[in-house]
Amino acid sequence: MKASELAKDVVRDGKVDLRNYHAYLLTQVEDRKDLDICSHPLNYHSGRHQLLEITSKEFGFYKAALVWTAGFHGNEPHAFLGSAVKLNEVVNYAHKNRVGVRAYLLVNESGARQGTRYNADTPVEDPVANNDFVRYFLTDGRIVDDLGGEDENKVASWWWAADSEQKLPEETRLLSNILTKNWWEGDFRGRIKAVVDCHVDRRTQEDTDVDCPASYQYIFGDPNRFNSILDNVAGVVPLWTNKKILSGLATPAWTDGRGNVTDRYDGTVTDLTRLLGVKDSVAVEVSADTDLDTAAEVYGIWVRGMVDLIVGRR
Ligand SMILES: [Zn+2]
Repeated sequence: MKASELAKDVVRDGKVDLRNYHAYLLTQVEDRKDLDICSHPLNYHSGRHQLLEITSKEFGFYKAALVWTAGFHGNEPHAFLGSAVKLNEVVNYAHKNRVGVRAYLLVNESGARQGTRYNADTPVEDPVANNDFVRYFLTDGRIVDDLGGEDENKVASWWWAADSEQKLPEETRLLSNILTKNWWEGDFRGRIKAVVDCHVDRRTQEDTDVDCPASYQYIFGDPNRFNSILDNVAGVVPLWTNKKILSGLATPAWTDGRGNVTDRYDGTVTDLTRLLGVKDSVAVEVSADTDLDTAAEVYGIWVRGMVDLIVGRR
């Protein structure tokens, strides 16, 4: 099924019918013998929700695996619909290459249900940002959640945001707890080799009236290792190059000539996993003018490309 067809069943006026979305994901998983799905409860003041976790069966047997996230922001249906329709293709490819998959394809479903960036408990006028996983302790005594323009050398240490006193959105706290447990005690120890987090940038193009399908990405380290992935992405949508990025950042960033924002230590999930030693942690963005089916292709190219990188390092 194409993402645009799934959207007809699932999205009305930017709001997601969760029952239909869950039904689609469950069908995808139930039709396969090599995937499991489980549900983690999420309790908001405004009601009960869940975080669905899709995982390779016998996950422990995979020496290498990747984590795939989408839908931190509920108003980015491209990300969680596009990822959902690519699940089968990506899992086929990963398993054929003996790479395990753990996927959380709609992290913030209460936000998706109401069509908002943040969850249903978050007041619009005073949002507590989600996708917030890291606290940096600076040498001058300050604690920041995003290094922004700060000198990296000023970092004395870092720790998980969930261990700070600050209130975090429930879905961020839950995913943080899951990651913590898996990283230190369980499945992920030494095994996660790549992380892909899928998003839509709804802000950067606000300054232009021109219809502008595009893609760019937040990466860490040497950008050249992603060149063949980016060649494939450029085959379906233009890379947003040399562009000032306005979305979700305390301080603006610029993409390079291939659409990379490099070494942006912003405390998001991919920054966390970088700190945990996963160099190939990438946040993939498409512009809001990118159509759903193209967005799905971009996410699929990235996750399959990460499988290739993992295989190439064996
Ligand atoms: Zn986003």
